[in-house]
Amino acid sequence: MRQLERKAPLDETSFEELKREIAAYVAGPAEEWAARIERERRVPPELWEELRARGYLSLAAPAGYGGHEIPFTRYLELIELFSMSHASIRMIVHVVNGTWRAMDRFATEEQRRRFVIPSVRGEIKIAFTLTEPTAGTGADLRCSVAREGDTYYLSGEKHLITFGTICDYWLLFARLEGTRGADGTVALLVDRRSPQASVVEMDESMGVRGTDHARLSFKRTPVPVANRLGGEGQGLEVALGGFLTPSRISVAMSCVGLARRAQELAIAYARKRETFGKKLEQRQAIRFMLAENATDIEAARQLVLHAARRWEHGDADAAMLSSMSKLQAVEMLTRVTDKALGVHGGIGFWQPNAIERVYRDARAQRFEEGTNEIQKTVIARALLGGNTG
Ligand SMILES: Cc1cc2nc3c(=O)[nH]c(=O)nc-3n(C[C@H](O)[C@H](O)[C@H](O)COP(=O)(O)OP(=O)(O)OC[C@H]3O[C@@H](n4cnc5c(N)ncnc54)[C@H](O)[C@@H]3O)c2cc1C
Repeated sequence: MRQLERKAPLDETSFEELKREIAAYVAGPAEEWAARIERERRVPPELWEELRARGYLSLAAPAGYGGHEIPFTRYLELIELFSMSHASIRMIVHVVNGTWRAMDRFATEEQRRRFVIPSVRGEIKIAFTLTEPTAGTGADLRCSVAREGDTYYLSGEKHLITFGTICDYWLLFARLEGTRGADGTVALLVDRRSPQASVVEMDESMGVRGTDHARLSFKRTPVPVANRLGGEGQGLEVALGGFLTPSRISVAMSCVGLARRAQELAIAYARKRETFGKKLEQRQAIRFMLAENATDIEAARQLVLHAARRWEHGDADAAMLSSMSKLQAVEMLTRVTDKALGVHGGIGFWQPNAIERVYRDARAQRFEEGTNEIQKTVIARALLGGNTG
C-alpha cells in the first residue's frame, strides 16, 4: 500500500523499487486472488480496491490528475509484469491505465473533472463500449442517437463489453441517425443507471474468468449532450485516434508478459518431471522448445518496445508498428503457450495446473484491440495505401 505515498514522476531508484514490488505482488498476493477468481468465477470488489490503493490503476496518467506519470515505455515494463498474473488482474490494470487517454484528448475542463480524474483515481469505472452484435467494429457501427435539444436519445445494441455490468459509465460510440461511415459518429459517457437501458451479463467465457462482460440494449435512452466527448463526427476519433496506438502496444506487451509466465511454468516443470531416468530439462527436444520460446519472446518484446519508442517520439509509422507488434506478439504467444503446455504433457490439460489457465487466457489476446486480420489490414494500408478491408 506504499505506492500512494510516492510522488510523481518517479526517479530511477523508485521505479526499480516499484518494479520489484509489483513482481513480488504478482508472484504472491495476485496468485491467491487468481485461485479465488477461478474458484468463485468473479472478481471480488476488494481486488479493485486493493489495486487502486496500491496505486496500480494510476501508473500512466499525469501527476496533475493524481497519476504517477510513468513514461509509456517504462509503463510497459510494468504491464509485462502484471500480465504474468491472472488475466482479470491484467485487464483491470490495462484498461484503467488506458481509458483516461481516450477521454482526455477531447474532454472539456468540466468533463475532465467529472470523468477523467475520478477514473484515474479509481473513484468511477468506465467501460469502453464499441463492439456491436450486428455490425463490424468501427465505421460500420449502428447504435444511433437522435438529438432533441440538450438530450440525445440512444438506441441500439452492444456486446462483449468488459466491466459493462459493474461500471459507472459506458464510454459508448454511436452515430447520429441517418449518417454513414465515420461521419456523424459521437462518443458519449452514458450513465449505467440510465432509463431504457438493459444490461445483461454474458455467459462464462473461455478465459479471463471472473471479469464481467455485458450485452447492452438501448431504447431511446436519454443521454445529456453535455456527456459527449469531442464534436459530432469525432466519435471514432475518440475511440480509435490517439488512444488505439498505445493501447495496441500495451496489449502486445501483455502477450509478452503472459508468454513469459508460460515459459516460467514450462521451465519449472521441465526441472521437476523425470521420465526414463532423466529430468525433462536434460532432453534435447525439450531444451530446444524452451530455447525457441525464449527467442520468440525476446524478439516480440523488442518489436513492442521499438513501436512504443516510435509512438513516444510522435513518429508517423507508430500506428503501423503498433499493429505489427500486436500481430507478432499474439502469434508468438500462441506458439509459446502451445509448447509450454506440450512440455507439461497431459497433466497440463487439467486444472488446477496454472498452464491450463494461461493457455485459455492467451486466446483472448487475439481479440483485444483488433484481430490479426485487422492488424494486417492496417499494415497493408500503410504499405500500399487504399482501403480494401
Ligand atoms: C475477452 C474480450 C473482451 C472484450 N472487451 C471489449 C470491450 O471492453 N469493449 C468492446 O467494445 N469490445 C470488446 N471486445 C470485443 C473485441 O474488441 C472484438 O471481439 C474484436 O474487435 C473482433 O470483433 P468482432 O467480435 O465483432 O468480430 P467480427 O468483426 O465479427 O469478426 C469475425 C472474424 O472476421 C474477421 N473480419 C471481420 N471484419 C473483417 C474485415 N473487414 N476484413 C477481414 N477480416 C475481417 C475477423 O478478423 C474475425 O476473424 C472484447 C472481446 C473479448 C474476447
